[in-house]
Amino acid sequence: MDWWLFVKVIGAVAAAVVLYTVGAAVLRSFFSSPPPDDEPAALEPVDIRFECLVCGSQLTMTAAPGGELPSAPRHCMEEMHLVADASSA
Ligand SMILES: [Zn+2]
Repeated sequence: MDWWLFVKVIGAVAAAVVLYTVGAAVLRSFFSSPPPDDEPAALEPVDIRFECLVCGSQLTMTAAPGGELPSAPRHCMEEMHLVADASSA
């Protein structure tokens, strides 16, 4: 067997293994889920009512992280107005 051909075949196999390993690692990093964020605050029951000043729709929030007043949701492209926060009253 030609020695040079043998070296080339070994080199090609080694290159293929390296490419496969690197490619598999890259693909794994793409598909693996990102590390979990800090534990979100547990939902606690609240009774917060928001009203849309544009159309008058009312929205009652029944749970919020940590039971705190969340930022106002939007309706009709505007921030909703806080009507009542029975949980902290
Ligand atoms: Zn609205």
